[in-house]
Amino acid sequence: MDEQPAGCATCGTTADPEDPGALVAWVRGVEDGRVVWTCPACSRRFLRSIEGKLDSQWW
Ligand SMILES: [Zn+2]
Repeated sequence: MDEQPAGCATCGTTADPEDPGALVAWVRGVEDGRVVWTCPACSRRFLRSIEGKLDSQWW
């Protein structure tokens, strides 16, 4: 079962099983055929760094 985050692939934090609403914010991705989960904090940081790179390349 890969439908529940086992832990953040970036920082290793685990989702709070007593807070199902928090799971919605987790980002599900696939790396090398494996399902990886990223916690809300890391996904925000990740997105921001991608946007930063895009911006610097684009402009
Ligand atoms: Zn994380």
